[in-house]
Amino acid sequence: MAILPFDQLVQRIFFNLAYVNINITEACLEDFETLLKGSAEAHGHLCPGQVIGVRMAMLGCELIGLEEPAQLPQIKSLIVYVEIDRCATDAIAFVTGARLGRRSLKFVNNGIMAATFVNLDNGKAFRIRARDTSREQVSSYAPDLPDKHEQQLAAYQKMPRHVLFEVQAVAVDVPYSDLPGPTRFKSKCESCGVIIRDKRELYKNDQVLCRICAGDSYFKGRS
Ligand SMILES: [Zn+2]
Ligand SMILES: [Zn+2]
Repeated sequence: MAILPFDQLVQRIFFNLAYVNINITEACLEDFETLLKGSAEAHGHLCPGQVIGVRMAMLGCELIGLEEPAQLPQIKSLIVYVEIDRCATDAIAFVTGARLGRRSLKFVNNGIMAATFVNLDNGKAFRIRARDTSREQVSSYAPDLPDKHEQQLAAYQKMPRHVLFEVQAVAVDVPYSDLPGPTRFKSKCESCGVIIRDKRELYKNDQVLCRICAGDSYFKGRS
């Protein structure tokens, strides 16, 4: 499929939405449109993952009682665990303001299109998973659109939440060492001397070691 310029793509999808008379009931349409446009710009393209991610993040924030998660003071209350590193994850980060560098975005590599939204202030947490069955229902929600990609873009906006998502109330014990804020824990690798922050050290043969010295490394040195 030819890749359209971003503005044309947005125009086309919203035209298609109007055409099939889509009514997004749960969220304010204007807010959703603004968020989707911003998220697609930040991500680099408009894709079904942006639609799913924006809706998932809006629902997650609503469930834990945050209306302006990306603004102070609410930005300090939110932790989001994402379970996949694909398109929707960028949309979730965009909508919520959760960021890896702020320690508010946690990546748990489960390979599942799911995220858990935690409000540190009231303890509420909900895990939301995009249902695999929603993919099979795309054509019935946008039968008039010409190709799969556009069908997905339109259908994921139109599907009721319960068709698109499975929602579970959960409890998340966020470790103290994983919280945002200043570094609370530091140790020193007894082999190479590097400083290890946030309790990421390992203990091996009665030694405190960084993960590289402990052999738990994602790379190999080359000579
Ligand atoms: Zn994408
Ligand atoms: Zn070391």
